[in-house]
Amino acid sequence: MRLTRYFLPVLKETPADAQIASHRLMLRAGMIQQSSAGIYSWLPMGYKVLRRIEQIVHEEQQRAGHLPMLMPTLQPAELWRESGRYDAYGPEMLRIRDRHKRDLLYGPTNEEMITDIFRTHVSSYRQLPLTLYHIQWKFRDEVRPRFGVMRGREFLMKDGYNFDLTPEDAIHAYNRHMVSYLRTYERMGLKAIPMRAASGPIGGDDTHEFLVLAETGESEVFYDSAVEDLTLGDRAIDYDDRAQLAAIREEWTAPYARTDETHDEALFAQVPEERRRSARGIEVGQIFYFGTKYSEPMGALVTNEAGERVPVHMGSHGIGVSRLVGALIEAHHDERGIVWPEGVTPFGAGIVNLRQGDAAADAACEDLYARLSAAGVDPLYDDRSERAGAKFATMDLIGLPWRVTVGPRGLANGVVELTERRTGRSEEMTPDALVARLA
Ligand code: ATP
Ligand code: MG
Ligand code: MG
Ligand code: MG
Repeated sequence: MRLTRYFLPVLKETPADAQIASHRLMLRAGMIQQSSAGIYSWLPMGYKVLRRIEQIVHEEQQRAGHLPMLMPTLQPAELWRESGRYDAYGPEMLRIRDRHKRDLLYGPTNEEMITDIFRTHVSSYRQLPLTLYHIQWKFRDEVRPRFGVMRGREFLMKDGYNFDLTPEDAIHAYNRHMVSYLRTYERMGLKAIPMRAASGPIGGDDTHEFLVLAETGESEVFYDSAVEDLTLGDRAIDYDDRAQLAAIREEWTAPYARTDETHDEALFAQVPEERRRSARGIEVGQIFYFGTKYSEPMGALVTNEAGERVPVHMGSHGIGVSRLVGALIEAHHDERGIVWPEGVTPFGAGIVNLRQGDAAADAACEDLYARLSAAGVDPLYDDRSERAGAKFATMDLIGLPWRVTVGPRGLANGVVELTERRTGRSEEMTPDALVARLA
């Protein structure tokens, strides 16, 4: 992409009403624009990051054997009356009435709708196990929408639902979600720690939240620092291998890690003192096992091997896709701007032409732009007639992992400069070496 043809409405001033770094930086980098409280337009660069995150979520869910689908944003109230949540959910639910005076709601989550789809089509244990998910906009009329996309009213969520015959099968589905979530966050360059949590309006007993540690997080958490060192790395995972998944779950949940709602001082005191941490965290996902909480009242039954009709065991599992954009920036920024991890960066590298209009500099930039594009690096070429300082400031603000600086002086010696955003380290090299390095 050439910057002169892109839409990147960068702000010079720090927006006064943005209280945390990610909100300020998303506004300054021209990623989002608020339309009303907690509701945002995603401008091209913000949208690009959102799509990359969504893509990683899709890939990891499908790797785990979960099936993508799409349910609507508007739901009929009748389904929620059946589960008893129409009244129970409270003012966070946005209720709508159509011209025929039918009650609708803008979905805050989808347990009822998916259970309805399930009971319409599945009647035998032979059709199990089944896990369906979608990535769809949700609406929750939060009392205090704030921190930009972190606590929006309209937000993008991945929500998945497993249907199983037995509690053991449902626990396996729970473990599959835990491991696929760990992989998902790791691929994005994010450390998210599973912590024992409380279930809230979804219901159920078995639940973990995934938290990204950050001072600006809204949750108070307590954990054993040993959990911070765990990584999946590139170990091979077989999502059908129950013992392997259970062992990974055990590895991550053996060290103490709880949110304030389930925190237990006596248990925490057993963690060696030098490893005890209390901190703040951003909830970027949550998994639930709730058994027959919805299948029973809504009649989602299957015939088991003995020919009996039994309610299915279910769980639901959510990832805050749009919140992740903010959480990633909270975890990866410095005083000059965003520092995108490779896995989610909107462009692979930025090309800065120090002397736009200089024949040699223009030609070298065009050549690098073409070759890096062909190599799949997806570069952003700053081809504006701006001062070098302004171009550097924009690149630092938008946080691409690599900056390629091209100017007449370097070219006279046959070199361009490659700078790593994270460390600020620069190296001179020939254009050929640079293409080989980034490709
Ligand atoms: P919170 O405690 O932050 O209100 P929640 O526990 O109500 O979140 P869940 O029902 O667990 O949310 O939804 C799954 C995920 O959706 C959350 O882990 C979070 O990442 C994301 N999410 C929830 N509410 C919002 C919101 N208002 N804006 C952006 N993302 C949200
Ligand atoms: Mg909430
Ligand atoms: Mg929560
Ligand atoms: Mg939650």
